[in-house]
Amino acid sequence: MHHQKLILFDFDGVIINGIDEYWFSSKLACERYLLNDLQNLNIKKYIEAPKIFIEIRPWIKYGWEMVLITHEILKKHKPLNNLTKNSFLENYEKNCSNLLLEYSWNSIQLQRCLDDARVFQIKNDFKKWISLHQPFNEVVNFIKCIKEKGYKIGVISTKGKTFTSKILSNLDLFPEFIFGYESGTKVDIISKLSQSYDIKGFIEDRRKTLSNILQNNQTKFIDCYLAEWGYLKSTDKEDLPQGIKLLKIKNLEDLVAN
Ligand SMILES: [Mg+2]
Repeated sequence: MHHQKLILFDFDGVIINGIDEYWFSSKLACERYLLNDLQNLNIKKYIEAPKIFIEIRPWIKYGWEMVLITHEILKKHKPLNNLTKNSFLENYEKNCSNLLLEYSWNSIQLQRCLDDARVFQIKNDFKKWISLHQPFNEVVNFIKCIKEKGYKIGVISTKGKTFTSKILSNLDLFPEFIFGYESGTKVDIISKLSQSYDIKGFIEDRRKTLSNILQNNQTKFIDCYLAEWGYLKSTDKEDLPQGIKLLKIKNLEDLVAN
C-alpha cells in the first residue's frame, strides 16, 4: 500500500518562539486564577520574561510547569534565582512534584489556570496575545513550501489544541493534523499516525522526547531531528545517538532532499 508522506513538527521552539507568551500568561495565571492572596509575590517585578525563566525553559515539558516556575521566580521569600537554580535543575522533576505537594496544588489545576489566562486574553485582546508569539519564519515558509509539494503536515504541541490552532491559522498555516496536550503522549500519537502515513521526519527541540520515539518499537524507524534553533540544554547537542540528527534552520530542505 502506498502511504502519503507526512512530516511532523513540534510547536513551541520549532515553529514559534512562545517564551514571552508563556511568561505573560503564567504570570496572569498566578495573579488572576491561582492565588487568592498575592502578598507573597512580586507580581510587578518582571514585565518581560526574565533571564532565569528563559534558562529554565529547556527543562520544562508541560504548560503547568511554566506556572509553577513563574510562581517560584516571583516569590518574595526564597525565590528561584541564580543561586538556587542549579540545584533546582539537578533534580527538576522531583523538585516540581515537591512544590505541588507543598502548596497542595496539582498539575491539572495549574494547567487549567494557564488555559483560563489564555482564554481571558483571547477574549479581551486577541491581537496582543497573538503578538506575544514570535514565528520562526524559515520554518513557516518551509511548511508552506512542502505542503505545495504534496506533503501532509502534522503539528504536535503540548499546548492546548485550540490555542495551537489559533496561532497556526494566524500564520496562514493549516496542517492536516494538530494535536494538543489533550491527545496523549507524542509517542502514542506518532505511533498511531505511522500506521497510515509514511512519516518522513519528526522535528522537535526536546531531546528526551526524540529518545522516547527511538525507544518505541512502533516509532523507532522514524527520522528524528533535534531543532538547533529551539530551547536546548547546553549538553543536548553532544553525543547524539544514531537516529537523532541535529538540524540547523538553514538546512530544513534536507528533510525533503530525496
Ligand atoms: Mg518544543
